[in-house]
Amino acid sequence: MNRRANPMAVKAALTYEIAEAAVVLGKSPATIRNWIKDGLPVMASRKPYLISGAAIRSYLRDKYQRSKSPLEHDELFCLSCRAGRKPKDMVVEAFANTPKTTRLMGVCERCGACASRMVSNSKLQAFARTFRIKAGGNSDA
Ligand SMILES: [Zn+2]
Repeated sequence: MNRRANPMAVKAALTYEIAEAAVVLGKSPATIRNWIKDGLPVMASRKPYLISGAAIRSYLRDKYQRSKSPLEHDELFCLSCRAGRKPKDMVVEAFANTPKTTRLMGVCERCGACASRMVSNSKLQAFARTFRIKAGGNSDA
């Protein structure tokens, strides 16, 4: 279910019920409800919830922009800030994620929440110059 919905599948001038939006976008109604929890605005004065096509478009564009938003080389993604943040003291812990990737985890210097990013092992050396990497799960750096 990781395929991206096409924002252009909805018409900006129309409004959609959750089930309708799900069909048009090729997603499950549960996914649409998750988007609503995640911030997709609904016309809350009415039930069933209606969502404007324009709102869906801007939500999806924003969401996909966010998910591909390139982090600066010295940033982790803070789930709480929903933005790239530097880790406190530039300290991160490295955890083996897959054979080819490592998850770097640190503490958001702004809000103190957990921040992380996935890096490919081939780039780990470069990140080791930016961050103070502590071995979490494994590290052969
Ligand atoms: Zn934060």
